[in-house]
Amino acid sequence: MSSHMQAGRIEIRPNALTALIDGLASGTIDVIDLTQPLSEKTPLIQLPPPFANTPVWKTHEISRYDERGPAWYWNWFEGGEHSGTHFDAPIHWVTGKDKHDVSQVPVKHLIGPAVVIDKVAEARKNPDYLLTIDDIRAFEREHGALPKGSWLLYRTGWDERATDQKAFLNANDTGPHTPGIAIECARWLADEAPILGVGVETVGTDAGASHSFTPAFPCHTFLLGANKYGLTQLANLARLPATGAVLMVAPLKLVKGSGSPCRALALIQR
Ligand code: MN
Repeated sequence: MSSHMQAGRIEIRPNALTALIDGLASGTIDVIDLTQPLSEKTPLIQLPPPFANTPVWKTHEISRYDERGPAWYWNWFEGGEHSGTHFDAPIHWVTGKDKHDVSQVPVKHLIGPAVVIDKVAEARKNPDYLLTIDDIRAFEREHGALPKGSWLLYRTGWDERATDQKAFLNANDTGPHTPGIAIECARWLADEAPILGVGVETVGTDAGASHSFTPAFPCHTFLLGANKYGLTQLANLARLPATGAVLMVAPLKLVKGSGSPCRALALIQR
């Protein structure tokens, strides 16, 4: 509660930010880091020829308390916009080419309720598992409708592989095999669902095998085309409740950027 003077009397009103600060201080609100570490070891998507690929993330030292800078340590880095835990802006895909770049995304869209749909068992059985509209309907029967302005976080257990490029991409001679979203479900999430975007634990929002879907990469095609967002390589989704968490995602404000490595955090009530 907070108070302020108004025409000689004290008005008491609830203040959500005061409650948030109290919750953070007392520990009844916890902050969960949904971000994977970003380094030269971070797994990156590998497209087959003739497509161009993102180079490995690289940090270059400028000085470290030495003759190049006696009292300071700092680096510069090179790496792709779509490296590690990162945000896909609508302009990333040809269907969203006239829509927002990452610097133009309204900041209100970077905070919202998160729902977590757990398909770990399915993905363990079948690495090509595809989330369906029926899965979401079943989730809604148990947990209520997807909230307006929410982020749908799709948990598959793939974060266990996040430090191992080979296991993370899970490719064989038929290409990568990682879980994703069925074509009709991607279309529904883009056109019908009241969500802002989809977050996943895998290297991209689409399934590993989605290069051969019609259309290819349906999640990118439909969601980014609908001015919605993607969030990839998330960690610690196991620590979130199915509903009730608040997601905060902070991509760099890269002018004309198609996406950005980002810090993704969740607030949860203990
Ligand atoms: Mn991406």
